[in-house]
Amino acid sequence: MLDNGQLDSFRQKLLQLQAGLSELQDTGDEAAKVVELDQTSVGRLSRMDALQGQAMSRERGRRRVLELQKIAAALRRIDAGDYGYCLACDEPIAPQRLALDPAVTLCIECATARESG
Ligand SMILES: [Zn+2]
Repeated sequence: MLDNGQLDSFRQKLLQLQAGLSELQDTGDEAAKVVELDQTSVGRLSRMDALQGQAMSRERGRRRVLELQKIAAALRRIDAGDYGYCLACDEPIAPQRLALDPAVTLCIECATARESG
């Protein structure tokens, strides 16, 4: 069971992660736009490189969106008083695990079971 001080420090951490990711997202979009504009002036090979870079930046963007959704969900769970409990088995998640990734939704047992199964 987490006390209010712990909940508050996890909330701060999540808000920091959220701010950092949102910033990256803006920069990422900017980079994708630049690639698009350059396509007319570059050769076929670098055009492919550019497209590949664009796909990678899209993939990074997609992961950032997922991460942001996870963080937003974690913040909602803090407000609802459900934070720190495994979504699969309802057992408390170890605070050390939350310290590593405050947006984590599964306890170590359930996460391990999912990875191996
Ligand atoms: Zn669990």
